[in-house]
Amino acid sequence: MRLLVKSYRQLRETLRNQANGYCLLCRQPTQAPRLCYDCQKYLCSRENRCQLCATPLAGEQTICGHCQLKPPPWQRLVVAAHYRGSIIEMVQRLKFKHQSLYAPVLADLLLNSLRGAEPLPELLLPVPLHWRRRLKRGYNQAELIARHLGRALDIPLDTKSLVRHRSTRPQSDLDRQQRRKNLKGAFHFTQVEAQHIALVDDVITTGSTLREICRLLGGHKIKTIQLWVPCYTPPKKLR
Ligand SMILES: [Zn+2]
Ligand SMILES: [Zn+2]
Repeated sequence: MRLLVKSYRQLRETLRNQANGYCLLCRQPTQAPRLCYDCQKYLCSRENRCQLCATPLAGEQTICGHCQLKPPPWQRLVVAAHYRGSIIEMVQRLKFKHQSLYAPVLADLLLNSLRGAEPLPELLLPVPLHWRRRLKRGYNQAELIARHLGRALDIPLDTKSLVRHRSTRPQSDLDRQQRRKNLKGAFHFTQVEAQHIALVDDVITTGSTLREICRLLGGHKIKTIQLWVPCYTPPKKLR
C-alpha cells in the first residue's frame, strides 16, 4: 500500500510538472513538450557513429571496420542516448514504476536521431513482452515508444505478428552462449505484407534479443530491418 501511495505521489508530481510547462528532468520552465532543449541536447550524443553498432567513428565514415567484416543481421541501428545517469532513471520509472509518460520522452529523443535516416520503414514492430510480464507491468514499454514514433512519422504499428510465446530469464545474468539458448524459440512471427520494417525497443545492451528476432524474420520475406532503440550501452557489447 505504501508503495502504491509513493508511486502515485511520484506520478502526480511528474504530471504536475509536465502540465505546468516544466522539464521532466531538470524542472526548469520550458516551451518544449516534455524535456527542455538543454536536457535533450545533453542526453543525445551528436558524435558520428557506426550505422550498424553505434561505435563512435572519426571523419565521414558510416560503417566501422568490424561491421564491414562481420555485418550484424540488421541494416541500420538508430539510437539516441547512452544508457546512463538520468536515462537509466527514466527507463526504470517507465518499466518498474508505471510511469508510462516517459515513453514519449524516449520516443522524442529517438525522433531527433531519425532525422535524415531515410528511407523510413513501412511497418513498426515493437519487441514483445511475454503476456505474463505485460499483464504485471500493465503495458509493453517498447509498444508505447513505437506507438508514439508511428504517430509522429505516420508509420503503422503491428503488435500482433511478432509475439513472445515463451518467458525467458533476464539476459543480463547470462553469457553469450547461454543467452542464445535462453532465447531459442522464444518468439513467433507471422508473415506480414511489409518488406521494410523497424524493430522498436527501449534499450539495446548486448543486442542478443534483437539478433534472435532478426534471425527469425530472416526466414520470412523481409528485405530490410532497422533497429530503433532510444537508449544504448557502450556498443562493444553488441559485437
Ligand atoms: Zn531540462
Ligand atoms: Zn559497427
